[in-house]
Amino acid sequence: MKYMFKLILIISTILLFADSSFASSKRVHWRMALSWPSTLTPLANPPIKLAKLVKKMTNGKFVIKVEGAEKTKSALGVFDMVKGGAYQMDHTGSYYYIGKDPNTVWFTTVPWGMTKAEQDAWYYYGNGMKYMEKVYGKYGMLAFPGGNTGVQMGGWFKKEINTVNDLKGLKMRIPGFAGKVMARLGVNVVNIPGGELYTSLDRGTIDALEWVGPGMDIKMGFYKVAPYYYTGWHEPASEMTFLINKKAYNKLPKNYQVILKTAMRAVSADMFMENFADSATAWAKIKKEYPGIKVETFPKPVLKAMKKATDEVMQSYASKNPLFKEIWNDQKAFMAKARKWSYMSRYYYLQASKEVQ
Ligand code: CA
Repeated sequence: MKYMFKLILIISTILLFADSSFASSKRVHWRMALSWPSTLTPLANPPIKLAKLVKKMTNGKFVIKVEGAEKTKSALGVFDMVKGGAYQMDHTGSYYYIGKDPNTVWFTTVPWGMTKAEQDAWYYYGNGMKYMEKVYGKYGMLAFPGGNTGVQMGGWFKKEINTVNDLKGLKMRIPGFAGKVMARLGVNVVNIPGGELYTSLDRGTIDALEWVGPGMDIKMGFYKVAPYYYTGWHEPASEMTFLINKKAYNKLPKNYQVILKTAMRAVSADMFMENFADSATAWAKIKKEYPGIKVETFPKPVLKAMKKATDEVMQSYASKNPLFKEIWNDQKAFMAKARKWSYMSRYYYLQASKEVQ
């Protein structure tokens, strides 16, 4: 009996080691499609950095091949590529898929929505990730935050916007929920992938567009054809998204799943820092190097009309879609308490430090 016990102990020890070494040495090859060209930094950096990190952390065993939109030729087709399993994962903007499922907008940003700090708290310490799982589970996918741009600028316009009437008939590239809001205000809304924006603006296919913020916008050259640069209202904290085919994820060894999740969180945080630094640098030289850019804020009546239209569009989706209503209410409840703290902490601090300058 004693020998039998020893034998079992030895066998189980061998099995244990065999299992763990098998798990950590399994070779896995994935492909990840991007909604942007692989040169479009900092948006393309989270996936590129993720692939490098995951490879290093698994001693070269888990390899993710990153393919930019220049290769896939379908910037907005990545949702279906991952859903169908042609790619195991992608890096995209959840709100691009508002036409497929309005609930996807909650995981990027919504007009007049949460700030980056508030939204992060909602994702990781509120119900955000739970709802991501629920919305994308329907399509056999998992979704994770993939890097935030922070507050985005309101966009580039060829003409000044003085009244709500100036928006009527304007052809503008503006995706997600904000596009629906602008459409309600009479804007002719189109969604164009990043790589085609400048040409569309230059050729007059569109009269206005929104992209990200000074760090990314100025190098795109929009100011050359549309000098009015408006401050933001519609994308207070745009989060990119990693979508993962659930079957592929479930096939991963457990330690690779942990590595992948940890690395996604690290590269997401990194993109915010990088984009903030880029925008701060670009903003610092905007007046001197680009004197033609006219920085403006939409007049108050226009902002009020945008807020009213946002509420109306939200209400119309909520009345048709119970999950939309549920997530909207959850975000509203979270934001009600988070915003008070944002004012008390960050807003107060910024005001106070400005006063003593
Ligand atoms: Ca944008």
